[in-house]
Amino acid sequence: MSKTGFYTHRDCRKHEMGPGHPECPERLDAIEDRLLASGLDMALTRLEAPLASLDEIELAHSRMHLAALRGLSDMLVEEREAGGPRYATIDPDTALNVDSWSAILRGAGAALAATDAVMAGELENAFCAVRPPGHHACREKAMGFCFVNNVAVAAKYAVERHRLKRVAIVDFDVHHGNGTEDIVAGDNRILMVSFYQHPFYPHGGSQSNADNLVNVPVPAYTKGMAIRELVDMLWIPRLEAHKPEMIFISAGFDAHREDDLAQLGLVEEDYAWITERLMEVARRYSKRRIVSCLEGGYNLSALGRSGEAHVRALAGV
Ligand SMILES: [Zn+2]
Repeated sequence: MSKTGFYTHRDCRKHEMGPGHPECPERLDAIEDRLLASGLDMALTRLEAPLASLDEIELAHSRMHLAALRGLSDMLVEEREAGGPRYATIDPDTALNVDSWSAILRGAGAALAATDAVMAGELENAFCAVRPPGHHACREKAMGFCFVNNVAVAAKYAVERHRLKRVAIVDFDVHHGNGTEDIVAGDNRILMVSFYQHPFYPHGGSQSNADNLVNVPVPAYTKGMAIRELVDMLWIPRLEAHKPEMIFISAGFDAHREDDLAQLGLVEEDYAWITERLMEVARRYSKRRIVSCLEGGYNLSALGRSGEAHVRALAGV
């Protein structure tokens, strides 16, 4: 069995939010195609993402939030026969279809199963190729393509259920992980480090002042070398001081220079470099434990190449 897990599920392809929406099922194909074409899939342990339980998701979200999502999903199912609406719209970017609820539970379930497997020593690390993404999902609110915050659920689970004293969440998506911040701000067991394009959607982050947040806003057109410098200057010292027993990654690839949703200038090599730096921290403090979950990344070619570079680094091949 390979030490790097690859969690996914076909249900994660069935969630879609309408024609032309950038957060589309083909994103998962883009990553898998690159893993297959490069032969990297042979170096991974492929695993089915289970369904998370509501009890587990409630570690990071309110019962009301989950009941509201579930209610919208049930309404779509009931009205489908009668020719009802195909989508339940939450905001202009974010909608459920009839299959979204199971995709949401698989996304969180992948992060939780990966956490269990890594904690048990069955895997050293894992990548969860799941959608919908999670890092904009707040405790009480779905937004920005996100419904349930997979990484925050897993980080809370690691400290509550596996009794870890310190974990870290690293978010390299181009957008600020406002949902993760909403859930973990002030919980000093969880250190969150991120960079994000600013000013930009979702227009938060720079005002936050909790001790456990290292938010680094960067202007549009920042390139990979500047990002590497901030990782070394601002992330690594805080990670080393925190000594996380496990590292969670919100792996968005929309800071890639070919991604038109944003204007940063990263390339595949930068994602490999960041991953290797995090693996060094994980080797020193975390018994190599890393669980990484897909967030953004909307140029399909760049997403496939960047996802491959990230997973290749995790697998060390
Ligand atoms: Zn993003």
